[in-house]
Amino acid sequence: MTVSRIVPEIAPVRVAEPTGRKRRDGPLLERPEVRDVLAWLRLLVDPQDAAAVVRALGRPPIELRQVHLARVIQLARRRRLDLVSGLSTATESPQLPPEARERIQRFLAVHESACAGLDVLSPEAFIASLIDLLGQRAYPLLAPEDAAERRAGVERLHELALEFARSQPGASARELARHLVMVASVSGHEAQPGERAAPEWDELAHGELQATLQLMRQEVSASVARIGERLGELRLDTDLDISHGVVRYLELLKVAAMLQRPSEQSMADALGDINARLLAAATPLQREIFETSPLDDALRSAFGAADVQAPGDEADARRYARARAHAIAPREGPSLGTFLPRKGVGLALSASDIETYLSCPLKYKFARVLRIPIEQTLHQRFGIAVHQVLERFHAGGDQTMAWMLELFDDGWRRSGLGNSARERRLREKARAALTRYHARLSDGSSRPVWFERSFSFRLGPHHVRGRVDRVDRLAGEAEERYELIDYKTSRPKTAAQLKDDVQLSLYALAARAAWQLESSRQAYYYVLDDRKVPVPVGGGEPDKIADTVLEVGEGILAQEFEPTPSRARCSICDYRIACPAAET
Ligand code: SF4
Repeated sequence: MTVSRIVPEIAPVRVAEPTGRKRRDGPLLERPEVRDVLAWLRLLVDPQDAAAVVRALGRPPIELRQVHLARVIQLARRRRLDLVSGLSTATESPQLPPEARERIQRFLAVHESACAGLDVLSPEAFIASLIDLLGQRAYPLLAPEDAAERRAGVERLHELALEFARSQPGASARELARHLVMVASVSGHEAQPGERAAPEWDELAHGELQATLQLMRQEVSASVARIGERLGELRLDTDLDISHGVVRYLELLKVAAMLQRPSEQSMADALGDINARLLAAATPLQREIFETSPLDDALRSAFGAADVQAPGDEADARRYARARAHAIAPREGPSLGTFLPRKGVGLALSASDIETYLSCPLKYKFARVLRIPIEQTLHQRFGIAVHQVLERFHAGGDQTMAWMLELFDDGWRRSGLGNSARERRLREKARAALTRYHARLSDGSSRPVWFERSFSFRLGPHHVRGRVDRVDRLAGEAEERYELIDYKTSRPKTAAQLKDDVQLSLYALAARAAWQLESSRQAYYYVLDDRKVPVPVGGGEPDKIADTVLEVGEGILAQEFEPTPSRARCSICDYRIACPAAET
C-alpha cells in the first residue's frame, strides 16, 4: 500500500514552523532529519513502501552504499519479497560483503525495536524513542548552527506528536505514525522543492559556486563520520577511503579559495596557483585522485563567465550541470555500472526510459537502475485494464460490442479493481468509452492492421524497443500511408502541449527502422474522451529524436543522475521520500 492510500481517519494537526525562528530552513517536513524520521514511520506502517525503505537504508544511522542497495533490491525482486523481508534474506547472501551485511543487520535491529514500540508505547514516547534510535539528537560533527537547526527540526516533530496525543487521547503510536505520514504527504504537495528561476549568467556563476561550496561542505561533513567509522572495520581499502576524504577536503579548500581570490586575478591564474599549492601538500595517491577530478572543468564553466564561455543554450547548461554533478558527487562508492540496463555495449532503452531520464535523471536512476519497486496507483491499474481489453478484443475473432464489454468485466476483476465509489465511477466511464470506441471502428476513415506491434532496432550502440498499440492503414490516400496510435486513459493534451513529444516521435523512427514504413503519421487516442490528437513529426524530427536517444544513452552510461526538481515533476514523483533534492 502506498502512502497516498493510507486512509486518514484523524484530522491533521496544522504543521507550523519552529516557533520563534525565521523560515530560513524551509518547511519543517522538508528538512532532511525530519524526512529521515518520516521515512521510518512510512516503512513501519507500510512495509511495502520501498521508496521509504531506500531512504532509511541510505541515511544515518545505516548508510548502506548505493551499490549494495541496488544488490539488495535485486535480491528482493528476484525472490518476490518486499524490501524489508528481502533484507533479512540478504544478510545470508554471499553477493554482499560483510560490511554491507553488518549495516543491514543494524537496519533490522532498529526496525525490530521500532516495531515493538509501535504497539506498546504511547505516541509521544514512541516518537521520542524512534528519534533516539535514529541518533537524530546527536550531531557532534556538525557546525553548531547546523546542529541547532537539525535539533529544532526533530524537536518540532516531537511537539507534533504531543499535539496529536493531546487532541486524540487514547490514540496509539501506530495511529500517530499514520497521522504524521499523512500530514507529510499533504504538506509535500503544498511545499515542493522550488524550481530555480533563470538568473543572469554572471549571477549564476557566483551563485552556483556558492551552492557548490555549500554542497561540498555538507558532503565532506557527512564523509568525516562515514570514513571515520570505516577506520574501525577490517578493510583492505582503508587508505583509499582516507585519500578520497582528504582530496574532498582539498577540493573544498579550492572552491573557497576561488571564491575569495583577488578581484584582479584571472580565473585561470587563480586555479593554476591554488592547484599547485594544494598538490604540494598531497601524497602520490591523493595527487592522482586530485588530478583526475572533474571539478576544474566545472569551475572553469562556472567561474569563467567573463573570460571563458557562458552557457549559450540549454545543451550548454546541461553540460555544465553534468560537470557540476560529477564534481560534487561523493566518489568513494563503487560504480553502479553492473546495474545499468545493458544490452551488448549499449543500453536497452524504451520511450518511457527516455522520457523519464529527460524529465529527471535521478528519477531514472531510482526507477531503472536501483529499480525501487513502486505499487501501481488505481489509475495505473485502470489504464492497464483498458489497454488489455483493447488488445484482447482485437486479437480475438468475435468483434461484437457485447464481447468487448465481457472482456472488460473480466479484466476488471483480474486487475484487482473493486467497487468503491471512485472505482464504480471509473468503471462506468470506461464502459461508455469502450462503446464509443467500438462504434468508431466502422467509420471507414482508416483500417486497423496491426495491434500491439512490437519493434526493436539498433541506434548507435543502443537497442531501442517498444510496442505500438495500434497501426491503421489510412483510407483514400494515393500512397500507402499508416497511422501509429497510442492509447491513453489520462486527460487529453493539446497538439501544442505535445510539440516536444518523445514517445510518438520515437515510434515514427521505429516504424522506419524496424518495419520499413517510410510514411506514417502519429496520434494519441484518448480513449475515455474519445479524442484523437495528432502529433506532427516534421522531416528533420527523426534525426532530432535519434540525437536525443544517443544523448540520453551517453548520460546513463556515464552515470549522470543529477536531479532536476520542479514543482510539477516532484509533486507526482513516487521517489520523493528517497530524493535528496526534495528537501531543504
Ligand atoms: S522528487 Fe523531483 S528531483 Fe527527486 S527524483 Fe523525483 S522528480 Fe527528480
